[in-house]
Amino acid sequence: KTYNIALVGASGAVGAEIISVLEEYQFPIGHFYPLASKRSAGQKIKAFQSEYSVLETTHASFTGIDIAFFSAGKSVSEVFAPSAAKVALVIDNTSHFRLQEDIPLVVPEVNVQDLNHCPKNIIANPNCSTIQMVQVLNPLHEAFGITRVDVSTYQAASGAGKRGLIELQNQMAGHETCEVFPHPLALNVIPQIDVFLPSGYTKEEMKMVQESHKIMHADFPISATCVRVPVLRSHSESLSIHFKQEVQATQAREILKNSPNLVVIDDPSRGLYPMPITASCSDQTFIGRIRNDLFDSKILHLWCVADQLRVGAATNAVKIALEWIKTHH
Ligand code: NAP
Repeated sequence: KTYNIALVGASGAVGAEIISVLEEYQFPIGHFYPLASKRSAGQKIKAFQSEYSVLETTHASFTGIDIAFFSAGKSVSEVFAPSAAKVALVIDNTSHFRLQEDIPLVVPEVNVQDLNHCPKNIIANPNCSTIQMVQVLNPLHEAFGITRVDVSTYQAASGAGKRGLIELQNQMAGHETCEVFPHPLALNVIPQIDVFLPSGYTKEEMKMVQESHKIMHADFPISATCVRVPVLRSHSESLSIHFKQEVQATQAREILKNSPNLVVIDDPSRGLYPMPITASCSDQTFIGRIRNDLFDSKILHLWCVADQLRVGAATNAVKIALEWIKTHH
């Protein structure tokens, strides 16, 4: 059996990656409809050994579609995903539906069982920084019981889409354009992603808290500081994890090595730890610098890196589609 696929946001950073992942995973595709706004309608896209013209997204775009991937921003999902969900399964990369009731928010390595309750035909893909974090936290929580997490992120420019990537490249080449990020990003770091809320946290930081709770079915305290760094691709995170019991770094290393989708690179004496260049264009989440706290044996610190366009978006979405096919057909 093959599936007819619509991809809303096909001309964007995540859209391009969804096409690559569908190709690499040899997804059983019937017809393929790349959709975007009027601006890029008519643009040619190469996919699945053919050339396609990008079409403008309308409410009628989804007739005959089996699965619709959305990665065109939350306002586009708000308008078009309900029309798509009348006839197709929607897998949405935006934040629009993530915290809504009856919308599963899924990282297949963590809560694949949540796909079983999908009454609205819409499945949400979590925020990119959240996906890699819960992949790391979940096996440790199952083994030792987490009581608190403090995380700081080092997020790549392409997390802000194609325009973010281009803005950093332009700034690196000496141009002074500053439209996507609130300050120059080249040779700088910006401790703000998305807008500030009255609490003093940004929306991006609150996504990491609320989405992690929903995915892990847990409510331990999480505090996040999200920072944009002048890296083109792949997000890094520094995590401090508190446990119910004493945990040795060696125990955590063993658990993580044997957990789905994780690769441990942790040999500081040889200068081995993951970096954005380690993770870019890969489907795995990399972990290093696993160490005990100096003062409290119930606390561990570690570092993790993943390609946010793949692990944090496209690959997660395609894995959800593959799981759904497995259980529903
Ligand atoms: P992007 O590179 O800016 O691409 C945006 C896409 O949306 C383009 O294809 C654009 O088409 C399309 N679009 C914009 N307005 C539209 C409209 N009115 N109707 C139909 N299509 C429209 O952004 P991105 O990074 O791929 O992100 C897309 C979504 O995924 C966002 O919600 C983002 O938060 C989420 N996400 C991004 C990442 C990441 O790392 N970048 C990770 C996880 C989730 P045109 O070419 O016609 O403008």
